[in-house]
Amino acid sequence: LLLAYDPARRLARLQVSLERAAVNARMLYEILDTVPHQRDRPDATELKLGEATVELRNVRFAYGNGEEVLKGVSFRAEGGKTTALVGPSGAGKSTIISLIPRFYDPASGQILVDGQDIAGVTKQSLRDGLAYVSQQPYLFEGSIRDNIRYGRSGATDAEIEEAARLAYAHDFILAQPQGYDTPVGEQGMTLSGGQRQRLSIARALVRNAPILLLDEATSALDAESEAAVQKALDQAMRGRTVIVIAHRLSTVLNADKIVVMRDGQVVEEGTHLELAQRDGVYARLHNLNSGVTEKSLSTEPQSAGH
Ligand code: ADP
Ligand code: MG
Repeated sequence: LLLAYDPARRLARLQVSLERAAVNARMLYEILDTVPHQRDRPDATELKLGEATVELRNVRFAYGNGEEVLKGVSFRAEGGKTTALVGPSGAGKSTIISLIPRFYDPASGQILVDGQDIAGVTKQSLRDGLAYVSQQPYLFEGSIRDNIRYGRSGATDAEIEEAARLAYAHDFILAQPQGYDTPVGEQGMTLSGGQRQRLSIARALVRNAPILLLDEATSALDAESEAAVQKALDQAMRGRTVIVIAHRLSTVLNADKIVVMRDGQVVEEGTHLELAQRDGVYARLHNLNSGVTEKSLSTEPQSAGH
């Protein structure tokens, strides 16, 4: 774990990661808790959080000199509510999530948190307000405790345990040979997909941040793990502003608002009922997948639109 906190190693890994994988847990957690790699503006202010409403206004973005992947995206994620992003693969959903911690900055347009343009606030204060659960939970070399503490380096053992309880991870952790001190990661014990996800959720919970960014897992979990992960997520989402890249129908059904993306644009917005009644992209995604597998909700056949 000491190595994981070494800034030089972190930066080296960061540069490697920057090349392709837009958002993964490793990177985001390194960024969330590390010295900013992009400097704050000299006049940057501290983010003042209230309701924790997130708003995108006409956001445009391209990776490097590549083609534009967000072509004027606007939507509002209300404070304390759940906003689900759905749409075909490549639509730009993960890119949106990566702009909120300012992993990248928009080419134009604004992202506002409680009315404050995030370009003008300190990264530290912004990231203190955010937690992220990735699609593919990343485990660091170290103990289970270390892995949860990665969410917030100052967390006490009691806080770590509390987060693990809320994430329905405490019991399986205690069942390990060395409990919270059991080593995990590549050299450590093997955890099931559901256990890894619950650790990742505990890591997010220990941050106790008002805004939760969630890239829902597509990997198949057995029914028991699925239920435990869902309960953990329900805890994590409670009382927070959630922006979730939704793959499961149940998440979409429970969302306060659904934002349908396609090809870098928002094409529809509304509740499930509103959208299902419209003969639009969402209704098609929905019909396409009802009766098939829930997990493929966001994955349209690539040939359909291209
Ligand atoms: P979604 O999450 O909806 O599947 P993404 O936001 O991951 O979509 O991707 C949107 C587009 O941006 C895709 O064309 C994808 O290939 C491209 N893209 C994603 N991440 C990167 C990156 N780090 N560098 C270059 N292109 C990227
Ligand atoms: Mg994605």
